[in-house]
Amino acid sequence: MEPIQSTLKKWMRENKNFQENYVKIRDDVLQDPEIKEFLSIHPELTKQEINKSLIKLYEYKTQSKQCNHCASFGECQNMLPGYSPILNVEKNEIHLSYEKCHSRLMYEKEREQEKLIQSVHVPKEILKASINDIHVDEHRNEAVKEAFRFIREASVKLPRKGIYFHGPFGVGKTYFLGAIANELKKINISSMVIYMPEFVREIKGSFKDDSVNEKIDRFKNADILMLDDIGAEVQSAWFRDEILGSILQYRMMEQLPVFFTSNYTLEQLESQLATTKSGVETVKAGRIIERIKQVSNPVAVFGANRRK
Ligand code: ADP
Ligand code: MG
Repeated sequence: MEPIQSTLKKWMRENKNFQENYVKIRDDVLQDPEIKEFLSIHPELTKQEINKSLIKLYEYKTQSKQCNHCASFGECQNMLPGYSPILNVEKNEIHLSYEKCHSRLMYEKEREQEKLIQSVHVPKEILKASINDIHVDEHRNEAVKEAFRFIREASVKLPRKGIYFHGPFGVGKTYFLGAIANELKKINISSMVIYMPEFVREIKGSFKDDSVNEKIDRFKNADILMLDDIGAEVQSAWFRDEILGSILQYRMMEQLPVFFTSNYTLEQLESQLATTKSGVETVKAGRIIERIKQVSNPVAVFGANRRK
């Protein structure tokens, strides 16, 4: 008999604890200000329905509502991370459902926007560039002004011309591209940033491949095309006329802006582009320069070399 008795006693004790706990949780739930408010706007709910739904009310009470208990999406405390509970009443019954919270929506929007900047062979740190980190001094005043003007106008209508940033090595020209792309993504404008020397190498290495045409089409059609370090690539007449020429021609016709960075002024770039293994072709180089002028406005950037 002994074991049965002790088991029974134990059960009674636990059952008592259970009952005490139940009463305590019920009081806690019904005293919760949000639950009280919910019940006060639903006088039609019967005591029986409230008791039946106690577990739902308890769940609602313990969950963070629209991030009121969490700092960010990554730190969400809820059972379904990123979802906030909602209580409603249908046919005199309490229902608990979940909707995406502010932090999750923000997080998803940021992920979506990240896709707006595509980069090819560009250092990742450039993608963190922020326009607010660009110091305004007499050396970059003009460039900053032009960048802001472009962004302002782009929020209304995409301007026909981007910017050709030229100046010495290390003054932050590429950084400008990253900062502008980041501002534009906030207004849902996509940018494609390409480091020219690597791009030329890649295209030359695969020029019979279909993927080249696909890439070139993407460069033709991106909202914003950014060609980093033009003039620093190994010059090739074929690349200049067939690839660069055709991309710029297309963007000029479609009135799509292009940004460039270069260590060369447009005059210097012209002689740079003219000289290839095929000899000196000033007319063909001049044609490229003309197109660059149609898709961008030149702006000088000076200042100290920021490279460590
Ligand atoms: P450039 O393209 O003119 O040669 P970069 O844009 O590559 O120069 O800039 C050189 C270095 O300085 C990079 O490491 C870049 O991240 C940093 N840099 C440039 N401008 C800024 C800025 N405004 N704030 C912080 N770092 C910058
Ligand atoms: Mg650069």
